Amino acid sequence: MSIKKFKNSQELYERGQAHLVGAVNSPVRAFKSVGGSPLFISSAKGSKIIDVDDNVYIDLVLSYGPMILGHRFPAVEKKIKKALRHGYSFGASSKGELKLAKMICSAFGSMDKIRFVNSGTEAVFSAIRLARAFTGKDQIIKFSGGYHGHADALLVAAGSGLATLSLPGSKGVPEDAVKNTLVAEFNQIESVKNHIKENHNIAAIIIEPIPGNMGVVLPNEDFIKGLNQLAKEHKILIIADEVMSGFRSKFGGAQDLIGLNADITCLGKVIGGGFPVGAYGARNEIMEMVAPLGPVYQAGTLSGNPIAMAAGIATLKELKKQNPYKKFNKIAAKIEKAFLKGSKEFDLPVQVNRFGSMVNPFFTKEPVTDFPSAQKSDTEMFKIFFWEMIQEGLFIPPSQFESWFLCSSMTKDEIKKVTSGIHTALKKVAE
Ligand code: PLP
Repeated sequence: MSIKKFKNSQELYERGQAHLVGAVNSPVRAFKSVGGSPLFISSAKGSKIIDVDDNVYIDLVLSYGPMILGHRFPAVEKKIKKALRHGYSFGASSKGELKLAKMICSAFGSMDKIRFVNSGTEAVFSAIRLARAFTGKDQIIKFSGGYHGHADALLVAAGSGLATLSLPGSKGVPEDAVKNTLVAEFNQIESVKNHIKENHNIAAIIIEPIPGNMGVVLPNEDFIKGLNQLAKEHKILIIADEVMSGFRSKFGGAQDLIGLNADITCLGKVIGGGFPVGAYGARNEIMEMVAPLGPVYQAGTLSGNPIAMAAGIATLKELKKQNPYKKFNKIAAKIEKAFLKGSKEFDLPVQVNRFGSMVNPFFTKEPVTDFPSAQKSDTEMFKIFFWEMIQEGLFIPPSQFESWFLCSSMTKDEIKKVTSGIHTALKKVAE
């Protein structure tokens, strides 16, 4: 294997500093937690992604989730091209919005109606506004290590980029904006109970059914049962943030698989097939509070964009056709096995958490069940592991606290490359 060179990426990274903040448009892309300069990408096709130095990688980032079929899947590309011929944005309704809405609502028992927006962040903050309006209450409970986009009220003890950069929150968020945000510990029902005991103004509990932004963490059954019960007893809505988990472990939501009684669901990523789309939805009684039917205002110039709708419809259609979920479980199991084998052989502390097509390792001895246990992971080991994976032609998220994603285009050969790359990278960590 020849050593990969990154000359062109490095040059662009330097040039990018002039007019882009840190040469990126989303912090985790700057590779701060793994050091070195970030990759600039020139193209992608199927499960492969190519950087500007012509290095080819198997892509386990997949745009942080949306590219579940792999890049430029032919049936999706065909529909995008067709949609482009009809116009890019209308500022009026078009047929595709109805079609995608119907497909999504049919896949979730908890949603009669949805509203499309342009990102997961928008979906979440709109859902919170709606929950507050519906319940007439102001407070929300979130879980530490949960990431729900970058709206002010949710930038408290957040995972994803904040965890990666070790930031407790964000400057510029006024006290007032977070005074109604209560933080509980994932998988610890007592921490939710305590908030409910002490506060009587809680509108909603927002939860990633399968957290992926502190790395992947699995909910335990009693915790989810407890949440359902507390929400019912205290007339608190459950907002299932399925921006990441939606359509990743089944055709529909992870909420069904874990038995979470969602009142409002937030989506993004997969439902836009790589284009900027988000959505929030719920039963009629709740959604009919949104303008123009009700008094909760929420709008968007580009919402329901026809190209994004076409990409979303084609992606969901193909997912239904392929039903790749068993395949995802098998691939993830192989990845887990490679880690466990390597960790034993090289005597490394490794935990692997996975659910459907979300999987990632933690370099720690103890099981990872919440944010504090995730944070025990040895990020120095991760750094070495990350760069060795890059050398092996495997693009994984440049952060210990991000899920890896699988796509349905992965071939048997590519899966073998991933597992043998993991073995080599673990060996390097142990050296
Ligand atoms: N919610 C979850 C669970 C996410 O993983 C993300 C993004 O990673 C968001 C919300 C925010 O979505 P976006 O980045 O599209 O604003």
